[in-house]
Amino acid sequence: MTLSIFDLFSIGIGPSSSHTVGPMKAAFVFINTFTEKALTQIDRITIELYGSLAFTGKGHGTDQAILLGLEGNHPTTIDPDTIQPRITNILKEQTLTIRQHAITFNLQKDFLFNFKELLPLHSNGMRFSAYTKENTIVLSKIFYSIGGGFIIDDEVGLANDEPSPIFPFPFRSMRELIAHCEKEQASISQIMLANESILRPTSEVKAELLKIATVMRQCIDKGCQTAGILPGGLNVQRRASALLQKLQAIGRPISFEYTNSIAWLNLYAIAVNEENAAGSRIVTAPTNGAAGVLPAVLHYYLDFYPNVQFKEVIDFLLTAGAFAILYKKGASISGAEVGCQGEVGVASSMAAGALTAALGGTIYQVENAAEIAMEHHLGLTCDPIQGLVQIPCIERNAMGAVKALNASRLALLGNGSHMVSLDKAIATMKQTGKDMMSIYKETSLGGLAANIPDC
Ligand code: SF4
Repeated sequence: MTLSIFDLFSIGIGPSSSHTVGPMKAAFVFINTFTEKALTQIDRITIELYGSLAFTGKGHGTDQAILLGLEGNHPTTIDPDTIQPRITNILKEQTLTIRQHAITFNLQKDFLFNFKELLPLHSNGMRFSAYTKENTIVLSKIFYSIGGGFIIDDEVGLANDEPSPIFPFPFRSMRELIAHCEKEQASISQIMLANESILRPTSEVKAELLKIATVMRQCIDKGCQTAGILPGGLNVQRRASALLQKLQAIGRPISFEYTNSIAWLNLYAIAVNEENAAGSRIVTAPTNGAAGVLPAVLHYYLDFYPNVQFKEVIDFLLTAGAFAILYKKGASISGAEVGCQGEVGVASSMAAGALTAALGGTIYQVENAAEIAMEHHLGLTCDPIQGLVQIPCIERNAMGAVKALNASRLALLGNGSHMVSLDKAIATMKQTGKDMMSIYKETSLGGLAANIPDC
């Protein structure tokens, strides 16, 4: 499978890449298999969610995402402000509008949450079925949402997959990536840029990465300006705007060692994840639930290190993207598969590696930082209360960002030699995820979700 950095950093909507973005894409792909003529035969569409999608789909807005996907919306282009009004209309009118065709839709009868069965390939399974007036099946398809917005069409394989171009510097492990860097006397970001430039012109790669950084910044700013209660029913108070006011009263720190810098990291991560929880525009990095860590560390770097140019921002994202690819290939970035170590843990590792490279670390220190950040997220479970990506997710991003900074500082104070390689840490994360009980993998059946069920 060809993995581009833009598969890992994609612009979408909150609150979940696996439970919102992926299902919307799957519904979009399903409906686009029908020609205009075939659409006229459809009288009813049913949707069945399995496994983790069934257990936490309501809290993650999976049902809404799918309905909008069936109406031809895509996570990268949908305007988040149109979502609630449109859903209200669909439910009120009991009608889906698919390319001018009105199809009757009854939420209770046509949208099923299957808590008993699992589909074979992944916990996040969904089945779409289209019927004629006579109740004959026109088409039934299964999709899986495997984390980070990636989907698998049961029949076709990876729906996001593309014909495999030959990268000049292919890698599946950190060992292979380091070998390229050593041979070419190049940084990770240079290796990544050479690879990405096979898929699109270099200028486009750079422009797209700057766009990603801009959307990340817009998300921080919007989160910092928005107060109130997050949707979903938990009554979680947004706090980024109040935090910002407190920090502004203290004044922005100017030195690397100023301990209050951590408070700004917290603010940025919380701002992004409050936006994510509110269903706003977000960049998966590598998932939505963990979307606050990387922007927080990137903007910490921009704030505290004067004179950072566009080039350094691009290099930061290229380096972070290399680590995301290593985790996606070597383990998983799906909370439903390996718990939160695969989401916030991976994001923290990406940020630690990218920051260390940005601060002039050697390739060995960069690996060390990424490894430290993952090592201390191993075993982290996924147990969001009421299936909402709010508690523990919002604060957890702040913790992941702070851990990334600390991992980077530790690595930069060392000489790059370390006992546990990143490849071993990735393999350990995968094995730990396998050993983890399923109640801790985005089902909201264990942990905090089970102990605080009615708050
Ligand atoms: S606990 Fe972690 S993996 Fe689970 S939904 Fe929250 S951020 Fe995602």
